[in-house]
Order: sequence, then C-alpha cells, then structure tokens
Amino acid sequence: MRTSPKILIVEDEEALSLLLAYNLEAEGYQVESVARGDEAEIRLAEDVPDLLVLDWMLPGVSGLEICRRLRAREATKTLPVIMLTARGEESEKVRGLAIGADDYVVKPFSVPELMARVRSLLRRARPERIANVLSAGDLSLDRETKRVRRAERDIHLGPTEFRLLEYMMEKPGRVFSRAQLLDAVWGFSAEIDERTVDVHVGRLRKGLSRGREADPLRTVRGAGYAFDETFGKN
Ligand code: CA
Repeated sequence: MRTSPKILIVEDEEALSLLLAYNLEAEGYQVESVARGDEAEIRLAEDVPDLLVLDWMLPGVSGLEICRRLRAREATKTLPVIMLTARGEESEKVRGLAIGADDYVVKPFSVPELMARVRSLLRRARPERIANVLSAGDLSLDRETKRVRRAERDIHLGPTEFRLLEYMMEKPGRVFSRAQLLDAVWGFSAEIDERTVDVHVGRLRKGLSRGREADPLRTVRGAGYAFDETFGKN
C-alpha cells in the first residue's frame, strides 16, 4: 500500500488556506495547515512533510526565512517547497528561488495550476510515490508525455479531456459528482455550468472507444461519473 504524501500549508489568509486544503485533500493528499511562520517551524521540527506550500508574507517568521532555515537543516534540505507570493512581490521571486524554493506561484493563481505544480514536484522528489503511467486494460495514460494510448493506437484528447481521464483513472471505481469534477479539472472558482462536464465526458468517451470497444467510463445516474474499476478485467 502506498501512503499518500503529506503536505503542510503555511498561509495566513484563511480563505486561501481552506481552499488549498480542500483541493489537496480531494486529490488524496494528507494535509495540515498552519497560519503563522513560527507555528510552521515548530511543526517542521516535529515532522517533515513530503511537500511544503509556503506563503511569502507571514506573521511570526517570513516564508523566505523559513525556507532559508529549512535548506540549512539536513532533514529538510531537499524538502520540496512551493512559495506563494503576492503580485508586486514577484520581483522577489528570484530571491526566493535563490534561497531554495523549488517553485513559486503568484497570487491570485488558479487552483488546477497549483495542483499541477504539486504533482510535478512530488513526482520529481519521490518518483515511486506517484506513477507516471496510469493503465487499465489496453488503455494507458502517460502524465509526463501527455500521451494516451489504447490497443496500440494513440488517442488524441484535448487538455480538459486529458485531465478528466487522469483524474478519474487515479481512483478507479470512485464516483465523482459533476461539481467535484468541475472543481478538480476546471478549478474551484470556475463559473461553468455542470452540463459542461457532460459535454467533455462525451468527447472523452468518443475519443476512448472505437466501434465495439468497451467504454471505460461509467455514468452513475443522479451521481456522476467514474472510471470503471472492472475495465480490462473481464
Ligand atoms: Ca500572507
């Protein structure tokens, strides 16, 4: 059994902190949040997470200072850090990267964008934790090359269909509501009609199956969609 990666969020804007925690948990990560720099240092001394989402401007100790101290400690030298900076602090990004942050995003950022950075950093840091290639039956999805193949042929999907498939394939059998898929694929704040999900799932299906090939997706009436966990197994 692989354990899900632990992520510590250090952010003093409560709404943003909650939004990040909600989305990271939805992706299966274990999440802990603190609002102050000094609290973060205490947590980090007790337990080292797999990744740190670190705000730049914090009460207590600044994100920059935390990052500098982390890099000086053996146990946290290589801990992946994503810095959150406000617009205007952007010129500071060079300093952040010089001090050892692995990546940074400028507020306001899109949640899917941050999720993508989290995944990519975790993959780099712990390649065994997150598989690059998801596969089921004759279908495979390569996150790195963004290629989807079925029965030896390439399947060309739009970026939204790709993300939808990736998201559902990560948890075969789990039923996602349209709202959950909207949050995960389009972003929490996306003001998009839930029917949009149906349109893209329809396109995804068309791309995945030819002729009499089995449909890897399941529509669950009144609930949403799932990647069929029995796909390729019968
Ligand atoms: Ca702040």
